[in-house]
Amino acid sequence: MSHIPEDHPRRESLILREKLVEDFRKGIVVPQGLIAHGRGECFDYLIGEKTIEPAMKAIRAAAASLLMASYPVISVNGNSAALAAEHIVRLSKAIDAVIEVNLFHRSERRARLIAEKLAEFGARDVVGVDDVVEGVPGLSSDRRLVSSRGILKADVVLVMLEDGDRTEALRRLGKFVVAIDLNPLSRTARMANITIVDNVVRALDALIREVARLRNHSRGSLENLLKGYDNREVLAEAIRCIADRLMHLARNPEEIEVFEDLHKEL
Ligand code: ATP
Ligand code: MG
Repeated sequence: MSHIPEDHPRRESLILREKLVEDFRKGIVVPQGLIAHGRGECFDYLIGEKTIEPAMKAIRAAAASLLMASYPVISVNGNSAALAAEHIVRLSKAIDAVIEVNLFHRSERRARLIAEKLAEFGARDVVGVDDVVEGVPGLSSDRRLVSSRGILKADVVLVMLEDGDRTEALRRLGKFVVAIDLNPLSRTARMANITIVDNVVRALDALIREVARLRNHSRGSLENLLKGYDNREVLAEAIRCIADRLMHLARNPEEIEVFEDLHKEL
C-alpha cells in the first residue's frame, strides 16, 4: 500500500481507495468496481462521512432480522471483500451465517481469490465458488448463479454494493433483503426490505455491535422492533439528512471554509 500521511485530512477515504487498488491488482476487484466505489464516495461526502441516524435505525432493524433468520446468508462481491473482509467474517460468526461469493463479472479464479481472502480472515464456510447453479430467474448477469447451500436456501440475504436488478430478483424469489448502499436513491436502496445508507465499513462495524447488543433480547421484542420499522420513511430521512445539510450550507455561506484572501494572491 502506498504511504498515506498520518495527518492527511482525507486519510480514511484514501485508505479505502488503496485497499481497492491493491485488490484490483490481485484480481479480486474489477475496473467497474473502482467506478462503483467512486459513486459511493460521492454520497459518503454528502452524508458527512458518518453513520447518520436513519442508518442507525436501519442497522437496528437489520440486526433484529439477522438474529431472527433461520438461514441468513451474506452475499460478497469483489469490492466488499476488498473493503471489509474482516468485518464480514466477524458478522458471519456472530449471526451464524453462510458467506456466499456472488459476482456480476464472474470468473472461477476471481471467486476463488475472494473465498481465499475470506478464509485468511477466518471464514469457515464460503459457498458460491464451485457449487453454483442457475438459481435467480430473470437475471441475465452472472449474479443469477447461486449456491444451493447459500442464497437459494436463504430466508434473509445481506447484500452490499449491490445492483438493483438483482435486489429486485431476490425480492421476487421471496427473500428478505438487507442492503448496505450509500446511495439512498439507487434501485437497490428502494428494492430492499431494509436499507442501511452508510459506508459498508462503518455499517458492518455498527451492525456487529448491534447484533451483540440485541443477542439476548426475546423473539417478541425483536419482532416488535421490526414491526415498527418503515424503510420508505428511513430512506426519506436519509435524503432529508443530505438535503438539510446542503440547504444549511447554501444559506450560511460563512460556514463554507474557503481561503478568503486567495484572489489577493493573483
Ligand atoms: P442500482 O443498480 O441499485 O440502481 P447503481 O447502478 O447506481 O445502483 P451499482 O454499480 O449497481 O450502482 O452498485 C454500486 C452501489 O454501491 C452504488 O449505489 C454505490 O452508491 C454503492 N457504494 C459504492 N461504494 C460503497 C461503499 N463503500 N459503501 C456502501 N455503498 C457503496
Ligand atoms: Mg446498477
